[in-house]
Amino acid sequence: MAYLPQLFDPRSTILLAGVMGIMMALVLFFMRRSYPSSIRGLSEWSKAPLVAFVSTLLFAARDFLPDFATIVIANMVLLQAGIIYYAGSQQFLLGRSDTRGWTAANLLLGVLMFWFGIVKPDFETRLAIVTITVTLLFFFHAMLYVRHKVPVYGMRLMIGLLLAQSLVAGLRFVSVVMGMAGSNLMEATWIQSLYITMYSFSVLFLSIAVVLMATDRVHTEFEYLATRDPLTGVLNRRALLDACLAEFAASHGTLGRPAALLMVDLDHFKSINDRFGHQMGDAVLREAVSRMQHVIGTKGVLGRYGGEEFVVLLPHTTMAEAMAIAARLKESIDEPLAANSPLAPVGSFAVSIGVATSDGVKDVDEVLAQADEALYRAKALGRGRVIATA
Ligand code: GH3
Ligand code: MG
Ligand code: MG
Repeated sequence: MAYLPQLFDPRSTILLAGVMGIMMALVLFFMRRSYPSSIRGLSEWSKAPLVAFVSTLLFAARDFLPDFATIVIANMVLLQAGIIYYAGSQQFLLGRSDTRGWTAANLLLGVLMFWFGIVKPDFETRLAIVTITVTLLFFFHAMLYVRHKVPVYGMRLMIGLLLAQSLVAGLRFVSVVMGMAGSNLMEATWIQSLYITMYSFSVLFLSIAVVLMATDRVHTEFEYLATRDPLTGVLNRRALLDACLAEFAASHGTLGRPAALLMVDLDHFKSINDRFGHQMGDAVLREAVSRMQHVIGTKGVLGRYGGEEFVVLLPHTTMAEAMAIAARLKESIDEPLAANSPLAPVGSFAVSIGVATSDGVKDVDEVLAQADEALYRAKALGRGRVIATA
């Protein structure tokens, strides 16, 4: 360990960390501008390294500036940077942040730094107080992610970093308690070097973790947008057909049960639009979707095929089962609209349903054509009914 002190000069390491912080803040700042505003936390995360940079300037100015600035203010600013990082994570994960408790703790830290830095200078006690506070902050920060339990790579990196930081700060605390504090900030004992080096690396790696997490979030959001119908939230036509293709490929050639498709079309929907307006028509579509989803549950997936036409994909479903589910769908749509609902003027609406299965059929298009043909016959027979392929 003896060579470590020569490798790491605390003052340059602290400054280097600060400069890295500035660069990462810049990266995050520009990222924030190009990311959708639904990704929360980026503004806190881009502020935190800047605040940390201010603290590194103050720490590096030890012996050049008054102790009040390099001890009391520097430590408070550094802790505040950690708190802002934490607030960023709260925003990102929960959509809101509350760090008032930690800010109060920071004020208390200031009082203690003033006492043990200016009134009764005591490096050892100061270091013990700062390291235990930092240990706890990183630990709580890590636990926020642990509780969230989303297995995303960036989050794992984040948890690892925060726990490592917490551990190193904890070790530093233990070393102080055991009387290995060193005599001042700039004395490069190996544990002090580790503590400071860890800090500078984490400025960099925390930002990388943040970029990974935000990118992953954007990816997930875009994927959602690309596969959903904006009006009703069900799968759009493309995603629906993809789901059908995947399901048919999986069941093809197996002697197992077929997949079923229900083609559902609202009856005389144009007249609902004509009589009550397009807005009301939209609301009826959403109501129809919500009722259908209630019936389908986890038995299948619902997608909007076009206009007022929906398709239900039911994996591993025989014709008899599919007919039963279609009948329940029709019944649930037939329920009159509640008198206190904004849709009440419409009174009621109905659907026609065509049912087909993949039994003995080559591909998705063929099953869709059969369901469509059955739907056409349901319409021709007077609507408001369920018809299976001939
Ligand atoms: P049928 O019983 O034969 O199905 O009659 P219909 O009136 O339901 O069928 P048609 O195909 O003549 O009209 C469908 C209407 O659905 C026409 C179109 O304006 C309306 N529509 C399609 N998409 C939307 C939408 O997103 N919102 C609203 N409000 N109306 C829509
Ligand atoms: Mg229709
Ligand atoms: Mg139609």
